[in-house]
This record gives sequence, C-alpha cells and structure tokens, in this order.
Amino acid sequence: MKNECYYNNFDRKEKLAFDTKVVHGGMGCDPITGAVSFPIFQTATFRHRAFGISTGYDYTRVQNPTRQELERTMAILENGLEGFAFSSGQAANMALFTWLPVGSHVILSDDIYGGTFRICDEIFSKFGCTFSWIDLSDLDAVRAAVKPETKMIFCETPTNPMMKVADIAALADIAHEIGALFVVDNTFMTPYFQRPLDLGADVVVHSATKYLCGHNDVIAGIAVAKSQEMCDFFHAQLKSHGNGLAPMDCWLLLRGLKTLALRMERHNANAMEVSHWLRKHPKVKKVYYSGFEDHKDYAVMTRQSTGFSGMISFELDSLETTMNLLSRVKLIMFAESLGGVESLVTYPLTQTHESIPADVREALGINERFIRISIGIENPRDIIADLEQALA
Ligand SMILES: *Cc1c(COP(=O)(O)O)cnc(C)c1O
Repeated sequence: MKNECYYNNFDRKEKLAFDTKVVHGGMGCDPITGAVSFPIFQTATFRHRAFGISTGYDYTRVQNPTRQELERTMAILENGLEGFAFSSGQAANMALFTWLPVGSHVILSDDIYGGTFRICDEIFSKFGCTFSWIDLSDLDAVRAAVKPETKMIFCETPTNPMMKVADIAALADIAHEIGALFVVDNTFMTPYFQRPLDLGADVVVHSATKYLCGHNDVIAGIAVAKSQEMCDFFHAQLKSHGNGLAPMDCWLLLRGLKTLALRMERHNANAMEVSHWLRKHPKVKKVYYSGFEDHKDYAVMTRQSTGFSGMISFELDSLETTMNLLSRVKLIMFAESLGGVESLVTYPLTQTHESIPADVREALGINERFIRISIGIENPRDIIADLEQALA
C-alpha cells in the first residue's frame, strides 16, 4: 500500500516547484482515510496480519509512518535518495560521525557550531580521530590541510556566527579527489535557498529545530544522503542508536515545513532591512551578513544560493552597550537558538560557542562585544524599533 502510493506521488511531485513541494510533502495525505493532515501514528509496534505478512512496519524505533512521511518530504526537498529524522541535530551529527573509520582525519569550518565541535573534541577524539579547523572560504588552506587519512570534509555555509561563505562545488571537488565524504550542515539556509546535494555534497545535515521547524517548539535533526550506501548506513544507525524522532515531533515538523517557503522569504527580506539599518548605527562597529554586496564571498553566495536567510552577527562598541542590549530588548528575546518565527538575540561567547577554545574564538572575532541575531518574521519596523531603544 505505502510504497505504491508514495512512488506514484513522487514521480509527479518531482516536477512541481519547490514552494508547492513543501506543502504536499511525500504522500501528503493519509492513503487510507484521506486525512489531509498526515496522521500521527502514536504507536510503538505494529500488528502482523499473519506469519510473514507485515504492513511494512514492525516497530517504531526502526520505522514509523509519520517519521517516514517527514523523511520522504526532506529527501524530496533536498533532492536526495532518502532522508532520516533524528531526535536532534546533535543526534544526526553523532550518527554521521560514527561513519568515520578509526584514526580518520576530518576538515571542518573553524567557526563550527559548538555542539559539532564537542562531538569531535570530546567523543571521536577517543577513537583516534583528528580534526583540522579551517577557514573553508580559503580553498588553498583546505588543500593544505588534507592528510592521507582525511576521510571527511564537514562544512557550514554561511558559518555560525562569522557568516563566512564556502564554495560548496569547489569543496566537493577537493573531497572527491581524495576520496573523502563531503557533508554540508544546511541549517542556516534550508533547501529553500541552497541545495548542497545538487552542488556535489554527499550528505546534508540539519538542526531541524531551526528553520525547518520554524516555531521554536521542537528539537529535531535531519540527514539526507545521495548514495544507497550512505542511506543503508543511516538506516542502520537509527535502528541501533534508537535516536529516531518521535511521531508527534515528526508531525510538528511536517506542519512547520508547509510554510517554509513563505517564512524563508520573510526572514530574508527582514534580515536584509535590519542588516542595513545596523550598519548605519553609531554604536555598531561591524556587521557580519552574507547578503552584503561587499561581503568577501558575495559572488560565491549568489552563485550557490537564492537568498541569504535571516542570520546577522555584529560587534558593538563596548561591553556596556552589549549588556544593555541583552537586557533591554523587549520584542526580541534573549535566548539561544535561531530560525523560528520569533526574533532571538544570542550571546555566542557564553551560549552557542562556549566550547570553542578561547584562542580560536578570539582569532575569529567572537569577543565579549559580539552579538548574533536571528531575525524573525515580525514586522521589520518593530524589530528595528526594539533594537533602536535597546541600543539608545
Ligand atoms: C543548533 C545547531 C545544531 C545542533 O542541533 P540541535 O537540534 O540543537 O541538536 C547543529 N548545527 C547548527 C548549525 C546548529 O545551528
């Protein structure tokens, strides 16, 4: 039942535009009842009709129809073979890193998300793995970091929080020349703006907690792979780690995804307006935003992405201004995370990037006056007015 219905839809859906696909997902509706909202299959196990006759589902840790609908939707949106839904972005990355052979070397962005840094530094270093933290926008530096045992290049672009832009296609070429796996963490851009698998990446990972969900109400992770081999690998990890996303959370994510195109347009337009306003503010020393035409890698950015998303970082003139901003914001909330409809302001030094060694942080520019802001979908005039009063 499930496969027939799904593949019929899939053939047809491949031809649809992205903003239609986000609404209709994998199967889109329940093939048995016609329920337009895909049901939450809140069950741990599945009854067999007779010996040897299964519905295709046996036990929810292995697979559940609601999770499968989300995974198929993500495979369609990222143009991959299959998707995998994990209990968090961290869980997705943990599963990915278990792919590494003992003693591997990995090249990653130098301002990588703090949790990804911890996975490397605290867990996989125990298995003899070594890591190079490189500015991936500098391809010569990437080539120079390659070792005989380099097995993976892991990239965020734009990076968090310095908004450095890496050339996805060029990094894919370097990785494939040396037989390494090339992975892109597409959390900041989502497939609405950037589809790394189309540009040569082997695997895309997401903290689906952020833009994919979009409502700051679910913790979730997604991986999408292109080869059968990597899909088989992820299936085995989900089954053994038991870290698949629960049915209710899969449903919330499916619900969030339906408005992805609309939300991303608004985040993008709002961030464009706020970033230009910030740049003119006398107390703002420097603004980091991938949508500035004078961004060092604006040409790469516009070649591989159709927008800039809603993330902005900036450096203020003093610690006092910074502390005042964090305690005076009213509409904008001082909270960790990003990508939701509500604007959030984050202090990377003690929140997202606390685990990064102090000297690396300093060199990057993540100092005590450094702020990151996730621009929500509110009216941009209200966001600017709130920043204006908090900076006054
Ligand atoms: C938040 C985040 C993660 C971790 O995801 P969780 O869902 O919080 O576990 C990984 N990468 C990036 C870029 C993130 O922003």
